[in-house]
Amino acid sequence: MLKNAMEEIVQGIVTVLMSGSDYQIFCKCQQCQEDIIALSLNTLPAHYVTSEKGRTAVFERMNSKENLEWINKRVIQSIYTVGKYPHRS
Ligand SMILES: [Zn+2]
Repeated sequence: MLKNAMEEIVQGIVTVLMSGSDYQIFCKCQQCQEDIIALSLNTLPAHYVTSEKGRTAVFERMNSKENLEWINKRVIQSIYTVGKYPHRS
């Protein structure tokens, strides 16, 4: 199971943020959500894992206030960038 654990973390954050009241003005179609996730992942370090154990370890490491704040900031930047130019990619 080769996968980028960061992708799952970012996906979760995007889902939570986009359903919040602060981001109701942005388009929430599949394309925009994927563009936001892709843009965020391009600016975040990848954390590839090959097992459930590795995945859990990354989640635990990223689940600190500082890490989540920093990842959230990148995701929010991406929401604004995609929101300014939706359906361009
Ligand atoms: Zn859209």
